[in-house]
Amino acid sequence: MPDRINLKSLTREELSSFAKTQGLPKFRVDQLLHWMYEKYARDIQEITEFSKSLREDLARTVCISSLELVSRQTSKDNTGKFLFALEDGQTIESVLIPDDDRRTLCISSQVGCAMACSFCLTGETGLVRNLKAHEIVDQILFVNGLISPKRISNIVFMGMGEPLANFDEVVEALKKITETLGISKRRITLSTSGLVPKMLELPKKAPDVNLAVSLNATTDEVRDRIMPINKKYPLKMLLDACRMYPLQPQRLITFEYVLLDGVNDTLEDAKRLTRILKNIPCKVNLIPYNPHEGSRLKRPKQATVLAFQQVLKAAHMTALVRESKGQDILAACGQLRGREKNRENNA
Ligand code: SAH
Ligand code: SF4
Repeated sequence: MPDRINLKSLTREELSSFAKTQGLPKFRVDQLLHWMYEKYARDIQEITEFSKSLREDLARTVCISSLELVSRQTSKDNTGKFLFALEDGQTIESVLIPDDDRRTLCISSQVGCAMACSFCLTGETGLVRNLKAHEIVDQILFVNGLISPKRISNIVFMGMGEPLANFDEVVEALKKITETLGISKRRITLSTSGLVPKMLELPKKAPDVNLAVSLNATTDEVRDRIMPINKKYPLKMLLDACRMYPLQPQRLITFEYVLLDGVNDTLEDAKRLTRILKNIPCKVNLIPYNPHEGSRLKRPKQATVLAFQQVLKAAHMTALVRESKGQDILAACGQLRGREKNRENNA
């Protein structure tokens, strides 16, 4: 019923005023919050703490949104991959990466993405639509419900979409994730392809969230080719914005660098990378390209990856080689959704 209010789309303050208009006492607000965000209720009828008549009354005017699980896969390295359907039938992905005592969830911020990076499957789709804040948060709630009593401890905005291109909803979601779900900002990382004006605005609206920048090239010539956003916000502008980014002591910007065979993986590139990142408190994640069907790009040989890393290390930089997790289940950005789409098209 589209005219019902989705309680998950309300802020705490809005929920309080809604309760007032319904003549509900204040403790009901706390109960609603508890059932939605801690007990992961996906329907008013699940709130058994409420009498049947109260549930029926409420269900006439309000609802609790939820995602629908389309598929779930677990890879050999224990990475869990979820494909969710939204209310309009669009699908998004989230990836659960368990690691010692951390459980990181990689979440989507858009259906598709408009940035059209040449190496990224999500980019091939183009932008379908922005996610609402509650659809972003619902990914965490759903997975929390599945792994309960454990909980997601860390969040990375590295699933489908460019989070800064959906700025307001992402900021609203960050507020819910920190204030209502209680996940500390230190444990949240937002990854961007480099929307410079929004990067500068982010610390004002959501201070102290970790920033990751998908750099992927060391010259404008190459970056223009593989990341069209670079034509609008070229490297110098992007790196200046990184230098201006307010960081708490001991905190670093993460630069992601997808290594593409013969495109951005030479020793010259590595040396240039050390030069252009000078004076930015940062670490570099080197991600050997995760190939997908139909792409002409290739992942470099392991020796090339290690030689690239060595140049960074020799310049006293922190540089880790990060494999995309869950390779056997296509856990890289947009890959499961891409496969489901292929299936649909072939059906
Ligand atoms: N739009 C944001 C966040 C989502 S993409 C951004 O671009 O930062 C998350 C990361 O996945 C980016 O660093 C991107 O460079 C990387 N990525 C995309 N496709 C990939 C692939 N096929 N193999 C390896 N990494 C990929
Ligand atoms: Fe969009 Fe990020 Fe993929 Fe580029 S890498 S197309 S910005 S999701």
